[in-house]
Amino acid sequence: MYTLCSSAWVITLTHSASPPSLSPLQCTWLSPRRWLNLQEYQSKKLMQESGVAVQRFYVADTASEALEAAKRLNAKEIVLKAQILAGGRGKGVFDSGLKGGVHLTKDPAVVGELANKMLGFNLTTKQTPKEGVKVKTVMVAEALDITRETYFAILMDRSCNGPVMVGSPQGGMDIEEVAASSPELIFKEVIDIFEGVRDDQALRMAANLGFNGPLQRQAADQIKRLYDLFLKVDATQVEVNPLGETPEGQVVCFDAKINFDDNAEFRQKAVFAMDDMTESDPTETEAAKWDLKYIGLDGNIACFVNGAGLAMATCDIIDLHGGKPANFLDLGGGVKERQVYEAFKLLTADPKVEAILVNIFGGIVNCAIIANGITKACRELELKVPLVVRLEGTNVHEAKRILTESGLPITAAENLDDAAKKAVAAIKK
Ligand code: ADP
Ligand code: MG
Repeated sequence: MYTLCSSAWVITLTHSASPPSLSPLQCTWLSPRRWLNLQEYQSKKLMQESGVAVQRFYVADTASEALEAAKRLNAKEIVLKAQILAGGRGKGVFDSGLKGGVHLTKDPAVVGELANKMLGFNLTTKQTPKEGVKVKTVMVAEALDITRETYFAILMDRSCNGPVMVGSPQGGMDIEEVAASSPELIFKEVIDIFEGVRDDQALRMAANLGFNGPLQRQAADQIKRLYDLFLKVDATQVEVNPLGETPEGQVVCFDAKINFDDNAEFRQKAVFAMDDMTESDPTETEAAKWDLKYIGLDGNIACFVNGAGLAMATCDIIDLHGGKPANFLDLGGGVKERQVYEAFKLLTADPKVEAILVNIFGGIVNCAIIANGITKACRELELKVPLVVRLEGTNVHEAKRILTESGLPITAAENLDDAAKKAVAAIKK
């Protein structure tokens, strides 16, 4: 079954034999949007501005800059951290042979050597594609001894109709693993969006995270500041793993991951301006320019649909008839002819694609606009692969007339089942 979900890090399309269980920790979001992701250092800048405790740091793009930064820090110990939009860096591996995307050292000279083996190389972690992600920037930060690592996050949770705090005294590691093996160590507090985080809630969470004595107050204060940040930047998630305790009795955010609500872009211009898109899939980025949502998959049937739910259903029915979707492109609501054309351009640019299935269930969408877009795209792009079209809804008769009168080799389908069967059969021919 196809399900769209976004974990703490990326939007993924999962494919499983049985319906997945969507625990709020593993899978919170069920809509195909591309959220803005920031690098750790960018998130930490935002945290600093909200009075959240983070270590002093510099950012470097070259080994010599990293070395300079390490000297300038003048710290007892230094931590060098590869900046990629994925977690699990600590346990990651570089294709330079270097193990670990996070390194601690007391010698600034070593920072230069390590940065040399990080910058320009791919880092593979549990959360990256197999080939890893190229590291273009490193963060050089003051290292602190950590006596205890906890997990803390604030996220929007549909089942609670608002923000929820999630915490665990077992931080630093993969929180999904903790949730699976020791669910009793995961604590939640539902936040009332009007009231904000109450004192008793922040203190209870701090206690559940294992902060005692004066540290409990300090942790509660950090929690409140993190919630202020969450609201201020229109985040959908603020995750700190680890939220650590130092021997000097400080509560510090050692790692930072913030996801943002794309709908807030209009009032978060400064935040969105930080998005460099370089780690995004180029097809997804191109699709986003035209207000289209593209998700790449492994099969050979391209799917052109309106709405994420319909996309999932389309993928499932293709699967049922023995086919495999190559991708899907969600057209959304307010469709223009040009968008349809650009969508076809993206779908056919993928050499894996051996057939295209259009499945539009027009409510707001005017099927005639889609039909015009399709015929224009077929002609101008000289479409070489079989095209199966199923249109239903607003202005469908006019749409069908446009397709028939076009004289193009388009296979019409009566319903989704019929469309999937025809698309699969077209490939087998
Ligand atoms: P990731 O989650 O991608 O592996 P983290 O930023 O959480 O990256 O770093 C991994 C581990 O490195 C942390 O769990 C922590 O033990 C250690 N670490 C990170 N930053 C510091 C720091 N400033 N001082 C000391 N140790 C650190
Ligand atoms: Mg971490």
